[in-house]
Amino acid sequence: MHKLGATGRKTSVIVLGAGISGLSTALALLKRGHGVTLFDRGKAGGESSWAGGGILSPLLPWDYPEPVSTLALRSMKMYADWVADIETQSGRIAEYWRCGMHVLGMSQPDSALAWCKAHGLTVHLGHTDADDRLWLPEIAQVRNPRLVAALRETVVRLGGIIHTDRTAEAATTQARRVVAISTAQGTLAADQFVLATGAWAGTALPGLTGVPNIRPIRGQMLLFKLEPGVLDTILYRNGLYLIPRRDGHVLVGSTLEDAGFDKSTDAATRQRLHAEAAELLPILADTRPVRHWAGLRPGSPDNIPVIDRHPDFDNVFVNAGHYRYGVTMAPASAELLLDLMEGSSPALDPAPYRWQAALARRWTEAL
Ligand SMILES: Cc1cc2nc3c(=O)[nH]c(=O)nc-3n(C[C@H](O)[C@H](O)[C@H](O)COP(=O)(O)OP(=O)(O)OC[C@H]3O[C@@H](n4cnc5c(N)ncnc54)[C@H](O)[C@@H]3O)c2cc1C
Repeated sequence: MHKLGATGRKTSVIVLGAGISGLSTALALLKRGHGVTLFDRGKAGGESSWAGGGILSPLLPWDYPEPVSTLALRSMKMYADWVADIETQSGRIAEYWRCGMHVLGMSQPDSALAWCKAHGLTVHLGHTDADDRLWLPEIAQVRNPRLVAALRETVVRLGGIIHTDRTAEAATTQARRVVAISTAQGTLAADQFVLATGAWAGTALPGLTGVPNIRPIRGQMLLFKLEPGVLDTILYRNGLYLIPRRDGHVLVGSTLEDAGFDKSTDAATRQRLHAEAAELLPILADTRPVRHWAGLRPGSPDNIPVIDRHPDFDNVFVNAGHYRYGVTMAPASAELLLDLMEGSSPALDPAPYRWQAALARRWTEAL
């Protein structure tokens, strides 16, 4: 068994999963002087963190419980500086863009307006013959595949080691500690371990219980290519959103499907997303999609992630279950986890993100 070297570092940490949760945890660990090795069963950032849309806010933030708002709003405040630092360290561009979001088809905007006022989010109410609509100018987006590529590069430049195509298969334990993780390629020991395995975090490894109530929720996305500038804000109506990229790409999403670990797409969904998108942006009616894919969100009841120490092992931590908003919540989640790992006083109340709190929650959402 190899022991991960912690020479000159505070501790050696193995992070399982190199999506945005694992990479942002690794970045925070490296910045605070720890040594980090990541294992991913596939490519770094190749799962949900690649497949998502990159809107940096809950879609209708007033519809979520307070623990979602707390983590999301803290991240949203951190995001511009967090991305700028990653871009500088990596030499890559992640396309953070404060493009704003229009929410159309609001039937009763009063509670949304009150929520925005109470939470310090700028909002403007508009009216048309057809509906009330909200304009949220502070909502930003990031080009998530580019962000994860920049994060990956930053982690490597800061001395992190990323092993791709390596599935963590089992944990070796001694009393209340995990001492090593095994893959088909060998066994590696470390001082501490972080579970950031996204939709797979609910799946137990031999020796290590899975995180309660996390399950994959599939989302299908369509991609179009228009001339740059045709759409320059996010549009949302009745569960459907359009996200413009600077180069003219437009993403259309999404579905919420309880289909296990199945990433297949289907023609009926493609046609429905296309038709609904064309109602919002008529030029899309005559435009063929350039790509159609599905990703697996790490679903959790009420969309509340688990950011905590593992209840069975003192040196194992969890950063998983961010469901629809893992890109949004990444910087504040990593910050909270690091505070818990180092025993410093957390900037947020950790109680709602505890393992025990997740154990008590139930899936009530009708998908
Ligand atoms: C269609 C869609 C749209 C979305 N839109 C948005 C949005 O607009 N804004 C937003 O904030 N969020 C959005 N999300 C959600 C967001 O993408 C996720 O919450 C986030 O990416 C989760 O990141 P993660 O690192 O926890 O999981 P992942 O990115 O899935 O990473 C987990 C990693 O763990 C690895 N892994 C699993 N098991 C093992 C193992 N045993 N050993 C080693 N590695 C393992 C996997 O290979 C994977 O790379 C969207 C998601 C989807 C699917």
